[in-house]
Amino acid sequence: MIKVISFDLDDTLSDSQFDELIWRTEIPKAYAKEKGMTFEQAYKEVTTEYKNLWGKAAGNWRDASFWLTHFGLKTTWEDLLSMLHHEIKHFDDVVPVLEELSKKFKLVIISNAERKFIDAKLKLNHIGKFFVKTYSASSDFNLKKKEAQVFKKVCEDFNIAPNELVHIGDEEEYDVTAPKSIGAQAFLLCRKGDKKSDFKDLHDFKKAVLSTVTREGNKND
Ligand SMILES: [Mg+2]
Repeated sequence: MIKVISFDLDDTLSDSQFDELIWRTEIPKAYAKEKGMTFEQAYKEVTTEYKNLWGKAAGNWRDASFWLTHFGLKTTWEDLLSMLHHEIKHFDDVVPVLEELSKKFKLVIISNAERKFIDAKLKLNHIGKFFVKTYSASSDFNLKKKEAQVFKKVCEDFNIAPNELVHIGDEEEYDVTAPKSIGAQAFLLCRKGDKKSDFKDLHDFKKAVLSTVTREGNKND
């Protein structure tokens, strides 16, 4: 029986435009301005350093504040957020699907994103109210990406068997292979439809979940 449904955040509920702008436009822009160089030079230095520290900074790697401090910049996360919060967008199916599924299941977020990014994205359209808990692989587990231990922790927190957890997300390795490795049910979402996936949008996912529940209900009658 399904008891908890967990959603990936980026490219599952919200698109990546906001993140792209933070990492590849605004941080290099602040760097260029504060260090007195061209954007092109700053972009090169900043993105080279992102690559250098991948795998070395663990969960910090996804924290914009860590990078602003690392680069010795005065610009803060709050500066970036107030400039760019209007760029946060959810896909059209997100609110209606969460609204319906939250009536029947406990919903959680399991994301690689750093806590501040999660909080900012859940504020939009007040979608935070649909989730009973959020898990950040980087902030809560100091991991670069979701690993099996994150999904295990969710099962422990809710006191459920692994197969009572259903996860959906857009990255095969972290949204499907990792949860399946502990025995959870997991589905691949590909909104662009350009690769083999279980679902192209959340409406179809919702229908599949609800029909499973109906089938299970009938079996038990
Ligand atoms: Mg994702």
